[in-house]
Amino acid sequence: MKILLKSLGCRLNEAELEQWGNDFQRQGHPVVNDPKEADIIILNSCAVTHDAGKKSRQQLNRLTRLNPSAHLVVTGCYASLNLAEVADMLGVDLVVSNADKDKLPQIILDKFSVPTMPLIAMEPGQTSLYQRGRHRAFIKIQDGCRYRCTYCIVTIARGEERSRSEREIIAEINTLYAQGIQEIVLTGVHVGGYGSDIGSSLKQLVSHVLAETDMPRVRFASVEPWDLPADFFELFANPRLMPHMHLPIQSGVDSVLRRMSRRCKTDEFKTLVEQARHSVPGFNVTTDVIVGFPGETEAEWRRTMEYIESIGFGHLHVFSFSPREGTKAAGLENPVPDTLKKQRSQEMRALGDKMKAAFYADLIGTESAVLWERGQLNGQGELVFHGYTPNYVKVRTTVDQEALLENRITATSIEHFDSQQQSVYGKVQSYA
Ligand code: SF4
Repeated sequence: MKILLKSLGCRLNEAELEQWGNDFQRQGHPVVNDPKEADIIILNSCAVTHDAGKKSRQQLNRLTRLNPSAHLVVTGCYASLNLAEVADMLGVDLVVSNADKDKLPQIILDKFSVPTMPLIAMEPGQTSLYQRGRHRAFIKIQDGCRYRCTYCIVTIARGEERSRSEREIIAEINTLYAQGIQEIVLTGVHVGGYGSDIGSSLKQLVSHVLAETDMPRVRFASVEPWDLPADFFELFANPRLMPHMHLPIQSGVDSVLRRMSRRCKTDEFKTLVEQARHSVPGFNVTTDVIVGFPGETEAEWRRTMEYIESIGFGHLHVFSFSPREGTKAAGLENPVPDTLKKQRSQEMRALGDKMKAAFYADLIGTESAVLWERGQLNGQGELVFHGYTPNYVKVRTTVDQEALLENRITATSIEHFDSQQQSVYGKVQSYA
């Protein structure tokens, strides 16, 4: 059976796709990229915003149109929150809720009575990752969250916290390394809560990953800025742990954070960032900010802008508040008018661009180990590669057409910041 895997939304959805892709391939079912070729199409849907739900429905209809004869399987947050509705949609053959996601490949093979094939070992470069043009592997370490931030639908869609065992995670990383992957990203819903249900912790997991694998580069996906032990940043003494963390602050004023039921106050967040920056020079902290949360006054807004500027982030993700049905925040009073939300989003994005330019400018004239991804020819016939520094700064370079940079780590001098490309330009010095 030929399998097509599609996901919307977060890195956790992407990590699940990678796991399923490898499971199917090990059982002799190839992963394809063209929906028209597929016998089974799997959509990992998203519901984080109203728009994401809409996009999930649109993607579902598009896949049905592209290949009405394929079996269409829908899972993920949108499907889990709307099981009956999705099951009734045209073309849908099976809906798998988030609670059963870890068993999805077997559920599908049983449902469509696909004969089991002997397990096959995968050769280097054969992972479904490469098939999908990717070089960085997202590793799901846990699912679910015990907290109830008032705007969050994810905690409702994904349920209680559950951690994968350290053994399983380390085995997956070693397999990926053997297949040529050089960078992994540890991902989950509440990554900081890893191990709470199995007598482990995120710090313990990471120190075991660094000790029991040879993966050259280990990264974190988004980590809520709490539940991290005081000595957490000691981990970054190991140069294989990349000095970048995405720590969502969401607002820069405690009164709004209280209405969001966030577990981290502004002064605690400031201390955490100082610890990070103290651990490795050039440590990059990026964040999320929700603009226009119900009741956000002009004074609260001004203080949020001042606070965000006072921290100085390498990158900002700016979200305009959108009420999600089923969340507490959807019922809160004093909604901020859309025009004001739009204006505040523009102000915050402009601040984000200014801080990013300042952070990137600090790198000019330095040298960094860049992991290069896939190259493309530009209009001038030059081969352009993109890659990332250890502290997650995007780098662009142009090389001769013969140069083999894909999936290579090279010492690279950072030459200048390109505001249009929102990246820096680098020159390859030597192959690491
Ligand atoms: S901690 Fe994160 S996942 Fe959990 S409820 Fe809050 S926003 Fe949602």
